[in-house]
Amino acid sequence: PKERIHILFLENISDKAVQYFKQQGYTNVRKLSGALSEEELIKEVKDVHLIGIRSKTQITAKVLDAAKKLQAIGCFCIGVNQVDLKYAGKKGVVVFNAPYSNTRSVAELVIGISVMLIRKISDKNIAAHKGIWMKDAKGSYELRGKTLGLIGYGNIGSQVSVLAEALGMKVLFYDTETKLPLGNAIAAKSMKEVLGNSDIISLHVPETPQTKNLINKNNIKHFKKGAILLNYARGEVVDLKALSEALKEGSIAGAGIDVYPWEPEKNGDRFETPLQGLPNVILTPHIGGSTEEAQQNIGEDVSVKLFQYLERGITNGSHSVPAIGLPPVDGAHRILHIHRNVPGVLSAINTALSKNNINIVGQYLKTNEEIGYVVLDVDKKLSKKAVELLKEVKETIKVRMLY
Ligand code: NAD
Repeated sequence: PKERIHILFLENISDKAVQYFKQQGYTNVRKLSGALSEEELIKEVKDVHLIGIRSKTQITAKVLDAAKKLQAIGCFCIGVNQVDLKYAGKKGVVVFNAPYSNTRSVAELVIGISVMLIRKISDKNIAAHKGIWMKDAKGSYELRGKTLGLIGYGNIGSQVSVLAEALGMKVLFYDTETKLPLGNAIAAKSMKEVLGNSDIISLHVPETPQTKNLINKNNIKHFKKGAILLNYARGEVVDLKALSEALKEGSIAGAGIDVYPWEPEKNGDRFETPLQGLPNVILTPHIGGSTEEAQQNIGEDVSVKLFQYLERGITNGSHSVPAIGLPPVDGAHRILHIHRNVPGVLSAINTALSKNNINIVGQYLKTNEEIGYVVLDVDKKLSKKAVELLKEVKETIKVRMLY
């Protein structure tokens, strides 16, 4: 009964998401353009099975309490901290996001900005706008043959690596984990090695306690004279005061910065950074991943995750209920059981089913500290009975049979 599934999309999520669910036969899809307040949400979510949000909608404990039928939340963005994840887990609500949908967008811009900085385009552009002719080759270089140093060789870092090599750059990278170097890239033994040997240094690490001020007064000293620094990762990773001093001294030749320790909430808000007005510095307003393609990818990626959970019970990429990848259901009915993770739940389930001669064709379990998620493929004829039995198991949060 696909029309009984209520889907609500807020904050102008890409039409790809609506189309995706309509193509799958879900007709009850509503799309609203803005975010909703807690009070409005509490009213709206009562009958909703799937909700899609972006970064502005706060899914609080109160909202989750009101959303009695909610199965999953799709965050059509990168972050998930707008959702009370712990409480969502306790309510058996799965939370997905799209961590990698804008990787390419960031990587392309890093290359583009690198060209702009190594050619000192931003200053020439500002001058030209002011009516000043600044034709000059001095201090302008090609990227070809230069060394790009990447700190962090995850999704974005490694994608930048591939694009940079296509332009004839040498790539040196440092990652705290062992990573397979793509193409001719070279894994450095230390961050210092990368900082001291690169013409352009680009940061692609997550924001963690260890990466706070990763680039600071002490290690900016190790940069090659005239190096360029790019931060398209997270604002806390660079000490901007130290960077602005290095730029003023001329030990660093330029910087491209997209993210800041403090960022305005909305367009038009006043924004300040110690880098304003410095030569050969390109400042962008956290738009590294902001493209039409990325929005569409996010729309598709999160929709697929929501759909796969709805129809198959797959929780890969979940931030609340434990993540499990599952094979297709074969000749059985699949039942999802989310429970509080205390010892004995699985044996209680198996005892209840075996006492009633219900054959389990497949069983999959994953737990985290608080929540357990078990998926049971059972005999079609006895599946209804099985659901009843599972609902009675102590510590049960949610039971759902797939159609
Ligand atoms: P990722 O998790 O795929 O890769 C991060 C890599 O950094 C991992 O390989 C990890 O092992 C490594 N790492 C962690 N700590 C490190 C350290 N101290 N030193 C060296 N390496 C370390 O993440 P990603 O998708 O490549 O994203 C990278 C960064 O870009 C993140 O901070 C993300 O938030 C940011 N980002 C920014 C934008 C934007 O709009 N500017 C868009 C998307 C992502």
